[in-house]
Amino acid sequence: MNTIIEPFKIKSVEPIYFTTPEERIRILEEAFYNPFLIAAKDVLIDLLTDSGTSAMSSHQWAGIMEGDESYAGSESFFHFEKTVKEITGMTYIIPTHQGRAAEKILFSITGGKGKFIVSNTLFDTTRANIEFSGAEGIDLLCAEGKLPEIPAPFKGNMDIDALKKVISEKGAANIPLCIITVTNNSGGGQPVSMQNIKEVKKVCTEHNIPLFIDACRFAENCYFIKLREKGYSDKSVREIAKELFSYADGSTMSAKKDAFANIGGFLALHNIELAEQCRNLLIITEGFPTYGGLAGRDLEAISIGLNEVMEEHYLQYRIRSIEYITEKLVAAGVPVMQPAGGHAVYLDAKKFLPHIPVDQYPGQALVGALYIEGGIRGVEIGSLMFGKYDSTKKLIPAQMELVRLAVPRRVYTQSHIDYVTEVIIEVFKKRNRIKGLQIIEESPMLRHFTAKLKSIQ
Ligand SMILES: *Cc1c(COP(=O)(O)O)cnc(C)c1O
Repeated sequence: MNTIIEPFKIKSVEPIYFTTPEERIRILEEAFYNPFLIAAKDVLIDLLTDSGTSAMSSHQWAGIMEGDESYAGSESFFHFEKTVKEITGMTYIIPTHQGRAAEKILFSITGGKGKFIVSNTLFDTTRANIEFSGAEGIDLLCAEGKLPEIPAPFKGNMDIDALKKVISEKGAANIPLCIITVTNNSGGGQPVSMQNIKEVKKVCTEHNIPLFIDACRFAENCYFIKLREKGYSDKSVREIAKELFSYADGSTMSAKKDAFANIGGFLALHNIELAEQCRNLLIITEGFPTYGGLAGRDLEAISIGLNEVMEEHYLQYRIRSIEYITEKLVAAGVPVMQPAGGHAVYLDAKKFLPHIPVDQYPGQALVGALYIEGGIRGVEIGSLMFGKYDSTKKLIPAQMELVRLAVPRRVYTQSHIDYVTEVIIEVFKKRNRIKGLQIIEESPMLRHFTAKLKSIQ
């Protein structure tokens, strides 16, 4: 049998609302060409993010009812703690309301002026929290990771030589930690190999630099290791995850990704002094250490979700559905990142819209075109998200201009996915008509969330 089926049946459904292209032209204008400013009811297929948008299982919903809402020592916390300990092998487990709350706490303590945090690629909230602390974030992605159309098995890997160079330039004492993002969200959802993690760990150990894992999509990454890395095909995803975390000194995670939860996150650590400092800050910003900004029911849902996500029928379906969209787009000549990532399809907007210069934000322009054509909401991962200005206010563009179409977990069916590919191919046929954009309002940090733009006529 060739067809990989959705490994679930649907018990509860939610309506989606239809709009016409004419209505969407007006809605997009009123939202200043920013998908974050469009009301969700005006979106037909929402691929803005896979974060917090998963469908929970009946087990998770049952867990929600079982949630223990005690302020201190809740039973749900102990379930959560046990699960996270089993998966990560870490000693101290600190719940937070989201991944970025874990980052804020971690970098408030370890960051600061004159410090450098090195990574394969920092996710935008991670980078923002590092910079907010006064530290600098340095991305050291391997060369093949920067070439969207060149397939390679582990395009999320860190460049080991570049890591060594940065350590000798900046000094190990100024690098409080190294953090590897699995899978590499901002770099196309591409996986990191076990080999690479081992090599990074070796270099870090030589210089006494703790290694952290941004574990948002650890299960997807581990499944890629199982599929692509020699020596792992017979291991379970749980075993692979155990090995992966064994190289780490700590981990941050957003439970809104591979834990199938609608909210939540955690910080997991081995170092007791750091854990104590983090818990002290947690109490001020998130809450008591046995709930950390979450309800007991959330802790219960996360704990169940973390075990479900390692189920291999699920991961096979998950990885295959993204690969399926990518294959169809490649066959139609659409420039897309290859191979497919774990959670999203990434269109290469620079190649898709060569007539739009980077300072007119081709990625954002493509996001708008997909919305008008088919009511699909995606997000730009390019110069609107990562661009900076030089001293003359000229744009320093991002490395790539991508549009991410992130697929929520267990939410859309095969026909939704087929519809999405049809819309993209239709937009590709009409690409010459798409116009560039100009920013009319922006904030100093994470500007893509709130920026207002207009079409350049
Ligand atoms: C989503 C995400 C985060 C931040 O998590 P939130 O729960 O959204 O705060 C950090 N790192 C990566 C790789 C992510 O995908």
